Amino acid sequence: MLLKRLRDTMARAGSVEETLGEVVRMVANEMVAEVCSIYLLRAGEVLELFATQGLNPDAVHRTRLRVGEGLVGDIAAHGRALALDDAQSHPQFAYRPETGEEIYHSLAGVPILRAGRVLGVLVVQNRTRRLYDEEEVETLQTIAMVLAEMAAAGHFVSPNEQQQVDGLGLLPLRIDGVQLTPGVAIGRAVLHEPRIMIQRVVAEDVDQEKVRFQEALAGVRDDVDRMLEATDMQSGEQREILETFRMFVDDRGWRDRVREAIDSGLTAEAGVQRAFDDVRTRMGQSTDPYIRERLSDLQDLTNRLLLRLTGRATTDASAQPDDMIVIARDMGPAELLDYDRARLRGLVLEEGSALSHVAIVARALDIPVVGRAPDVLSRIEAGDAIIVDGDNAQVMVRPAEDVVQSIHEAIAARAARLQRYAALRDLPPVTRNQVRISLNMNAGLLIDVQHLDDTAADGIGLYRTEIPFMVRSEFPDVDSQAWLYSRVLDMADGRPVTFRTLDVGGDKVLPYVGSLGDDNPAMGWRAIRIGLDRPAMLRGQLRALIQGANGRPLSVMFPMIADVGELKGARALLELEMERARRRGQAVPERLRVGVMFEVPALAWQLDSLLPHVDFVSIGTNDLLQFLYAADRGNSRLAGRYDSLSPALLRLLHFVVEKARPAGVDVSVCGEMAGRPVEALALLAIGVRSLSMSPGSIGPVKAMIRSLDLDEVTDFVGSALAQPDQPLRETLRLFAADHAIEI
Ligand code: PEP
Ligand code: MG
Repeated sequence: MLLKRLRDTMARAGSVEETLGEVVRMVANEMVAEVCSIYLLRAGEVLELFATQGLNPDAVHRTRLRVGEGLVGDIAAHGRALALDDAQSHPQFAYRPETGEEIYHSLAGVPILRAGRVLGVLVVQNRTRRLYDEEEVETLQTIAMVLAEMAAAGHFVSPNEQQQVDGLGLLPLRIDGVQLTPGVAIGRAVLHEPRIMIQRVVAEDVDQEKVRFQEALAGVRDDVDRMLEATDMQSGEQREILETFRMFVDDRGWRDRVREAIDSGLTAEAGVQRAFDDVRTRMGQSTDPYIRERLSDLQDLTNRLLLRLTGRATTDASAQPDDMIVIARDMGPAELLDYDRARLRGLVLEEGSALSHVAIVARALDIPVVGRAPDVLSRIEAGDAIIVDGDNAQVMVRPAEDVVQSIHEAIAARAARLQRYAALRDLPPVTRNQVRISLNMNAGLLIDVQHLDDTAADGIGLYRTEIPFMVRSEFPDVDSQAWLYSRVLDMADGRPVTFRTLDVGGDKVLPYVGSLGDDNPAMGWRAIRIGLDRPAMLRGQLRALIQGANGRPLSVMFPMIADVGELKGARALLELEMERARRRGQAVPERLRVGVMFEVPALAWQLDSLLPHVDFVSIGTNDLLQFLYAADRGNSRLAGRYDSLSPALLRLLHFVVEKARPAGVDVSVCGEMAGRPVEALALLAIGVRSLSMSPGSIGPVKAMIRSLDLDEVTDFVGSALAQPDQPLRETLRLFAADHAIEI
């Protein structure tokens, strides 16, 4: 009833003051509160008191709080509700004498939220120290939602004030973000799902609204099924991502939330939005990447439902330019697949992370993505010329003509380079003095494996098995793991694949293992440490690897080994699984190779006891460098501070190579370093003969190898390493220039 009365009040023509004045009176009355106030967000992150029942009327339009200031500012800053029986004792309480609020003790406030953005705050207060219960807070949230629709439509504050402006809106602008996928693209901005305005918030007929919700849900389910059937969905991961997505459609808990919202008097579309806002406020603060990804999936679903319920067509292909750069707050994987692939050039997100589903799909489509680009949606207009530079993690809006020109040149040069590397495809990675180097690629998704053919790599030197685990919502059983490993080996078609067992923990959180809460995750309970403490999990994976190999050669590598005992423990589990397979008459690998990742410096001083137990050592320079220098590999302030071409690292690697050679143990390098030509050059000079890198680096590294005389560079680096401690980067660059080595 209250909602209906609110709607009627808002529909009646009147000034903003009259309308909101009526609203606060009504709410105060309904909630038996002495005070009800509405604060709205104005330009410059200021919350202004727009209407009040109970506080001093003169304070209206005078009382202004910054976002984050006082309790009202706190509600806005965190986008979450507060209910306090003694507001004044709260550390955030800020007293404003003009309001006369000192006599009120209890307070309940909720953010006025629209599409995850705070537009204002709705507050009730009472003299007595009472605690507002959950139901009362929910009622306030529902009212806030009705207000949000009016506010978003610009009824109270002009929409211009709700957007951030960057000086003159037509000047070129550069926005920095983070790289989600590499590459450069130029095109015209398409704003993803320009806000869906909900016109009808209050239900006329609750039962009818439930039917509408049910129908919309069925429609979305059909859409997803159609996508799943689409012929080009060969990749296992893309399928899986869509299936996870469909699980949301069928999730009871979420559907019940929407139904409850409809029961409270909202229309189906308002109910869907309300349920999403609830989840968003609860999960939005989470730093757990998995939870954040689920939130984008749910946003995707919400948008789809809203499109159906508000009768708008899904993405209208005819209105899309031929060179689309899609701009979105965040996006689910299915939404990206809605766009015409032939016209999609790039993607810019306000949120997002490299492991988000949309990024994984974008990588498979080979389009550049820049994420965490602040406020792009309000700073970019549809049709703006945009450059997405994934390589440098930046977005250029309305770039000047000379910038456009140089980007076109860069794109053309990149294409030419790629063509030249493609021409090298069928030539072997042999140095000028006839040393054959083993060039391998790193992979983590089934879709990556196809690059073995484009690059003619010798094999997969590092298969990161954790990635498929991370996109799933539950632990995959042995059979589905075995299916995946078997597909990888089928696609590799006889070329060797080194499977690394699960390297999770740290920032790679598996939802079903639970957040570990380590203070120092990179050095915490991760990788083989989890595997040995949870042997059933590791044994399951080893069993799946044996099963997937089905008699073919198998190569297994254990991550983060810090102590020989850990390798022995892991090997023992592998032996148990081999034994089990034999006992059951299953095929066992015709050749089994076992190795370790060398990522922890302590291993250097255990090589004598380690080497007899392994067939190979693969050096993970990403982690090794971080542990050697005690420098977090993900900390952008430390990026580049410690050079991978420092004598400290190179001497350590040289030591490992020299130890392994007489023991007959192969050494390869699979960290990022292996894929950068000048660094690969140094690695070859200290005796490494096998490298594994991302597929895109194979061409440049092969070009370097084919232009290199290994004897010359070995002598040169040998004497440079004997010199006082200076990074070799510059000296190597000059050496390469003098000797016509392509780096
Ligand atoms: C490494 O540490 O160098 C490595 C290859 O492993 P990851 O990057 O997966 O930690
Ligand atoms: Mg590592």
